[in-house]
Formats: sequence, C-alpha cells, structure tokens
Amino acid sequence: MISDEIQRITAQLPTGVRLVAVSKFHPSEAIREAYAAGQRVFGESHAQELQLKHEELSDLQGLEWHFIGHLQTNKVKYIAPYVTLIHAVDSPRLLAEIDKQAQKCGRTISCLLQLHVAAEETKFGFTPDEARAFLGGGSWQALEHVRLSGVMAMATNTDDTTRIRDDFRRARRFFEEARQQYPSFTELSMGMSDDWHIAIDEGSTLIRIGTQIFGQRQY
Ligand SMILES: *Cc1c(COP(=O)(O)O)cnc(C)c1O
Repeated sequence: MISDEIQRITAQLPTGVRLVAVSKFHPSEAIREAYAAGQRVFGESHAQELQLKHEELSDLQGLEWHFIGHLQTNKVKYIAPYVTLIHAVDSPRLLAEIDKQAQKCGRTISCLLQLHVAAEETKFGFTPDEARAFLGGGSWQALEHVRLSGVMAMATNTDDTTRIRDDFRRARRFFEEARQQYPSFTELSMGMSDDWHIAIDEGSTLIRIGTQIFGQRQY
C-alpha cells in the first residue's frame, strides 16, 4: 500500500533528509493517497503531465511540486508559476530560461545543478570540472530569479554497491566543496528506490523514490 510505504520510508529518514515521492506515470489518485498519508513533496519529470496533475490536484493544500527529470527550455514556462524545486539543471542556458520565466511570474525558483558522476555516457549534467568552471565564472550570480540550492546526482545503474557508493561520494565531495564558497548550497539530491540507503549514508538531503512507493510505472 502507498501509505504503508510512505510511513516505512519516512520512519527511517534521519533529521534533515526529505522524501520526494516520484509520481511520474502514476495517476492523480495515487498522489491523493500519498497525500492522505502525510506526503507533501512530489516529483514529476514531464512538464505536460505535471501541468495536468497540478490542475487536477489544485484542491490539496501545501503540496509541493519538484521537477526531477531533464527539462527542455521550451517547457519551462508551463511549470514556472508553481514549481518549488527544479532538480536537474544541466546547462547554463536552461538556468537562464528558468530565471526569465520566474521573473515573468514574479517568483524566485530554487534549482539544483545536475552533476554527472555515473559511468554511463549521457549528454545531461555537468561533470565536476564543468560545474566548477560554471560556478567559478559567476554569471549565474546575476540571475535574480533563480536560487542555486545545491546538487543533484544519479549513481551508475548497476548492482555493484561499491560503484554506487563511489558515485555518491564524488557528488558529495563536490557539494561540500561548493558549499564552502556558496552558502545557498544546502541540498544534495541523490538516492532512488534501489539505492537510497546508500545515498543517505553518503549525505543525501533529498531522496527521490517512485517504484518503492507507487509500484511499477505503467508505461
Ligand atoms: C524516475 C526517477 C526517479 C525514481 O526512480 P525509482 O527507481 O522509481 O525510485 C528518481 N529520480 C529521477 C531523476 C527519475 O527520473
């Protein structure tokens, strides 16, 4: 049951770690069930789907939407009016677009830089060196409608827990380093259904769990 899983997980969270319930591809009714169990933060990874659910669930007080997946710049405008945290900022261009759309709605949107630490090839995310160069460049500090609040990372998709731990450690090391210089860095988003215990060991402050709570996605 959804409510049992929410309770099972939240009972194990150390102080300072929050659960993002990843509801992508699950119906709004499932979100209502999680909400009834006390869950308030939900993660989605498709702008249109989030938009629809935001409308269907507008009666729920205090619900927080996080965008956790790859976000195309042309979709930012749909979610800017209400999204609380964008986890996977993977380019300077995307951050600039979020700033622009947030300004249009008179908001400041918190964002995390997606750090690429996994073994898989991907075009998404900054390597630690790229992230260092971007932060050091400083142009982001002129963006008044985004707040860079930390780092998000995914571990290699593998059963090798040593490798997973190692990936999380690299993300944490980068996060700690950035936090020395940028006090707005307070969040380290890492950990999914299969690896969240390791992520918490390695300093995660936001775990993003879908399958364990809602079951297999439908498509
Ligand atoms: C889908 C998704 C998750 C949740 O994954 P589960 O294995 O279902 O817990 C977490 N983070 C991101 C970025 C995702 O896209």
